[in-house]
Amino acid sequence: MTPQSFHINNLVSSLFGSSFRGKIMNNVSSLSTSLLSPIWKDLVNLQKNESAFGIVGPNNWKWKLGSGKSILFWLDPWADGRVLKDEFPSLFFLSSIKNQTVHCFRFPSNIGLPQVGWDFHLGQHLSIYNAFKAQQLASFLARFCLNDAVEDKISWATGLNDSYTVADAIRILVQSGNVSPPVWPKVVWANNVPSKIMIFHWLAIKKSIPVKDVLSRRQILPSNQSTLCVWCRLETETIDHLLIHCKWSSSIWSDLFRWWNIRWVIPGSILDFSFDWYYGMGIKASKFWKMIGPATIWAIWTARNDIIFNGKFTCRSSIVRNIKLKVFLWASNLKLVHGKQAYVWEQNPSFLV
Ligand SMILES: [Zn+2]
Repeated sequence: MTPQSFHINNLVSSLFGSSFRGKIMNNVSSLSTSLLSPIWKDLVNLQKNESAFGIVGPNNWKWKLGSGKSILFWLDPWADGRVLKDEFPSLFFLSSIKNQTVHCFRFPSNIGLPQVGWDFHLGQHLSIYNAFKAQQLASFLARFCLNDAVEDKISWATGLNDSYTVADAIRILVQSGNVSPPVWPKVVWANNVPSKIMIFHWLAIKKSIPVKDVLSRRQILPSNQSTLCVWCRLETETIDHLLIHCKWSSSIWSDLFRWWNIRWVIPGSILDFSFDWYYGMGIKASKFWKMIGPATIWAIWTARNDIIFNGKFTCRSSIVRNIKLKVFLWASNLKLVHGKQAYVWEQNPSFLV
């Protein structure tokens, strides 16, 4: 299976051993993760992480039957968490429909008529043993009734309420003592830049923005296409190279450091860089400063895309000018500065803090 054909439903099905609105694939351990992005790898590797799997694994989900149109009768753990295929293997073997939703087992099948029981599609001639098992299954399912007006639901049994939230999962993991609280999210999300820029910053830290190196390793970029950086044309376009190490991007960073009259050593990765940037300035300056870092990586990225997709080259000074202007506008919207201070901002921003 290639990453391109690897669908989220398959993954969820694999993790939870079920097929809620998806196809069945019971085992992802055979998948080669070398071609997957770090985000997909994290998801696939979830199965191997006992503490995390104990929180989001199959035992933590409750199935709530509604119309029965999204739940597989024999294969999903919808009836008190029991998988009927495992509980009644001989009936599963005899059933003429093995991979169908609960709705298909309704008796009578006409939706207008009230449901009185279940049709397991077993054929006419049953052994005494199977007839007994069918009766056993029918009485077990007697209290389950389909409701065509309600959608099937799957809810998370571990959290504070039915819905799964990342924040809840992290809280439970941290409380269990199995993981330390994550530190980098603050660096990305506690910022006043627009959401799309925060998301881009997060993707950069997760090494998931589609630079040539990433596309090539995922076999998306044709092998005959160059992976060299569009600016220097000397080194492979990796995320770290493009955003912080290329001599062209470094010159943008240098301009910004000069503007604030500070000296800075560029660290080895965008993650380290983000930490340094976030914590590297005093509290007063940081409210402006924190916006400049993400604004700059976004500006570098869009300038790079302009060259590749529009054949348009933007000079360094105009990129730096735009970064200054954008951050000033964001700061102005937050009432950290007012319009009359634009000149001071341009000349010496440290006067404003
Ligand atoms: Zn370069």
